[in-house]
Amino acid sequence: MMAGQDAQAWRARAVGSAASDIDLVFDAADRPGTVTALLAACVCNPDGQAIEADEAWDWTLSQRLQALIAMRLAAQEPVIELQSACTRCSEAMELALDLRALAGQTATPRFHWRSDSGIELALRLPRGCDLQSWMLDGPSSPEALAASLIEAVHGVAPDEEQPALSTLLPMLDDAFEAHDPLTALRLHTTCPECAHDNTLVCDLEALLIDGFSRAQARMLDDVLQLASAFHWREADILALPRWRRAHYLRQLHHEGAWA
Ligand SMILES: [Zn+2]
Repeated sequence: MMAGQDAQAWRARAVGSAASDIDLVFDAADRPGTVTALLAACVCNPDGQAIEADEAWDWTLSQRLQALIAMRLAAQEPVIELQSACTRCSEAMELALDLRALAGQTATPRFHWRSDSGIELALRLPRGCDLQSWMLDGPSSPEALAASLIEAVHGVAPDEEQPALSTLLPMLDDAFEAHDPLTALRLHTTCPECAHDNTLVCDLEALLIDGFSRAQARMLDDVLQLASAFHWREADILALPRWRRAHYLRQLHHEGAWA
């Protein structure tokens, strides 16, 4: 079941809409930390207060991803262009992913699942802090990671009755994917050359982070252009509303060299 209320409970702004975004750190070695920093910078509670990092860590991966999608939509760039190659004939394929179709699809944090053999599990989605502790604690077995997401087996705490996890594991992966399809998003596309039906597994979070990093780079580029042309200070340029920065840049490009 999808919960639509989360999306209404907070508001997101675009990366690049505040001067402080110039200080955002995109750390490829710490993706969970990067996401938390982005959310703490760009997501507000309904009362307009920025959310705390602790709150962002506590959100499920599904909630975190939805907030990143909302940030991207706030930038009014709803479409991500993907390039891939057909797995059968290697023909280049292009795919447009429209984030508006994915917004608001927050998976509920807890769900029940029943295996074919009749084992009933109460499962929870991983949260940001789970990723952080998995990263800090070093490599763990897939069984141990899955076990940490099982809250009950046949209604009792899992320590008392441990099912054969290694045999359940592939099915558990499917169960998590079915409940939260966006976290490891599968896209289907037909090859224009050979008509083969390709399935692309898409790391949506990575694509979104990449887009935010490019938005920050554009912001720095704008500052550089305006500073070179008008000899304004960085802080003054960043203090300008975005529409005014865009206006001056347009002038600059229409008029040629002003400096
Ligand atoms: Zn093909």
